[in-house]
Amino acid sequence: MCIYHQENEKTKDPAVKDMLTKRKMVQALAAGGALSLAGPALSGCVTNPETGASQLLLIGEGQLSQMAAQSWAQAKKTQKLSTDPRYTKRLANIGGRIAQGSGRADQAWDFAVFDSDTRNAFVLPGNRVGFYRGMMDFAGSDDQIAAIMGHEVGHVAGRHAQERVSQQMAGQIGLAVGGVVGASQFGKRCKSLRGAEQRRCYQSANRNSQLLNAAMGMGLTLGVILPFSRKHESQSDLLGAKYMHRSGYDPYQAVKLWEKMAEASPARQPELLSTHPDPARRARDLHNYISYQEQLGSQGWQNIKSPKRS
Ligand SMILES: [Zn+2]
Repeated sequence: MCIYHQENEKTKDPAVKDMLTKRKMVQALAAGGALSLAGPALSGCVTNPETGASQLLLIGEGQLSQMAAQSWAQAKKTQKLSTDPRYTKRLANIGGRIAQGSGRADQAWDFAVFDSDTRNAFVLPGNRVGFYRGMMDFAGSDDQIAAIMGHEVGHVAGRHAQERVSQQMAGQIGLAVGGVVGASQFGKRCKSLRGAEQRRCYQSANRNSQLLNAAMGMGLTLGVILPFSRKHESQSDLLGAKYMHRSGYDPYQAVKLWEKMAEASPARQPELLSTHPDPARRARDLHNYISYQEQLGSQGWQNIKSPKRS
């Protein structure tokens, strides 16, 4: 059993926090009935080889990818796609190199450029990376575009979407199971009953399971659209720098990019910043990380450790 820390600062609901701190979620998971949605993909608490962090994963990458397929198709249908090879070929090339640097060149990737001035980029489960033309223009150089690409691929390697959705599920399971049926498995106790009593028991178990599924469905939807937590953002920054280094890009250009974002006047700041707070601090953290990894020489770039803050 793993101890699950709810670190997503977005969860302000005291009920959710309470459930999680009391590890009702773990009890709920032990109840079994709730697990049908996660099925064989359920892996529980695992250590992420890329970040070294312990993660609660209740949903598989494949399942999440299926869920995201629709959002991706929708984005491509409702927004104008660029067909300009100066953008599309460039992005595919940079994406391919970063995928290689992240050790994921054998996976299928989809890189799309949306023909809009918006300064934003995003990643959806299933290795789907979207850039707006405005973001590529703002970055300007291949190295700085690679910095954003590295960051988005970092979200994939960090399994951030999976973790975020799992946190949502955990919250919902904690609430639904903890609040409605306790830690008993749906319908299990009905077996020992007879007649009308048993019928009522099964009806109630059914209702509870429907309620739970609805709650979880809501959690899943939220999880896909919610911004990543600050912890995930900084992990992605560092992973991105590592992949830049491994792909032959200059990781210090990631520092430059965030400095550039910090300098842009608020009205002109990239929309990316709405989900990526405090660019100046991120530039500093990146600089610390990169110079530390360089100091390590041949031992460098193995992980995303930074020097201890004094
Ligand atoms: Zn991000």
